[in-house]
Amino acid sequence: MKTVFLIFAVCLMAVLWRDTFDPESVRNARVLVTGASTGIGEQVAYHYAKMGAQVVITARREYALQKVAANCTSLGAQKALYVTGDMSQSSDPERVVRMAVEQLGGLDILVLNHIGSTPFAMWNGDGDHVRELMQLNFLSYVNMASAALPVLEQSAGSMIVVSSLLGKITTPFVGPYAATKFAVNGFFGSMQHELAMQRSNVSLTITTLGLIDTDSAMDKIRGYTNMTAYPASDAALHIIKAGATHQKESFYPGYIYFACLCRDWFPFFRDIIIQNSYTY
Ligand code: NDP
Repeated sequence: MKTVFLIFAVCLMAVLWRDTFDPESVRNARVLVTGASTGIGEQVAYHYAKMGAQVVITARREYALQKVAANCTSLGAQKALYVTGDMSQSSDPERVVRMAVEQLGGLDILVLNHIGSTPFAMWNGDGDHVRELMQLNFLSYVNMASAALPVLEQSAGSMIVVSSLLGKITTPFVGPYAATKFAVNGFFGSMQHELAMQRSNVSLTITTLGLIDTDSAMDKIRGYTNMTAYPASDAALHIIKAGATHQKESFYPGYIYFACLCRDWFPFFRDIIIQNSYTY
């Protein structure tokens, strides 16, 4: 009984703490959002815009970025600019950060969110695809973090890394993607320790998301599973709040936190449940 009460009290405190978010805290903030031409990144850009931030967005498709930047301006962004970049190219992550810093005159918040396309299917033995996806979903994050950290130190800024439940728990059909997200969690989790040990003024948040209703995710899972998908706009707001309140780790939707907690308690039953959640 005592344990149940303690768990309840901790959850309540966590919820109340999250609610301390003040949108004014990001007004005028200089923000770079990656993977912002569509999906969750686009929604992140719109929320920052509504809160009056100065936003630079990046992805590959210029036409889509132009549209998102124009929407950001109408929603109230102090600035809404874009830089095109292909994160599969080794020089682009650093170049995009440099250009964003030039355009904004510094940087307060970096949101690392982009991902490359990958099939939702049994692994077919294609090692090159795993390597390419590592560059896109993981190594480019490392390169951008490396370029941005000195600038974020000057502004006592924040870095937000968008990760996935699939970087915590393995499931079928996502081997290359899961590998990149486990790498992201491992690298940035280690970086959190190092920033704390150096008493750095940069805050680093890792957000873990469950299934979100972006077009790309919905197209992939169709016919494989009918799990509930949560709204991209809510996920985006969650990401912003987690970063602004300097949470180390955050989970959306909230129940996936408990999935992570219980992950290793009953591995046999966990794997049966996971495998039976998919049609094959
Ligand atoms: P989308 O596929 O909808 O968007 C991906 C974004 O990345 C697009 O803006 C795309 O733009 C950009 N991108 C793709 N390839 C490149 C490239 N080579 N260089 C630069 N940018 C590129 O993804 P989601 O919005 O669904 O996911 C966003 C984040 O949320 C990811 O980190 C993902 O892992 C995480 N997440 C999502 C979940 C979901 O169910 N949707 C669940 C858990 C986590 P463009 O094509 O113009 O380059």
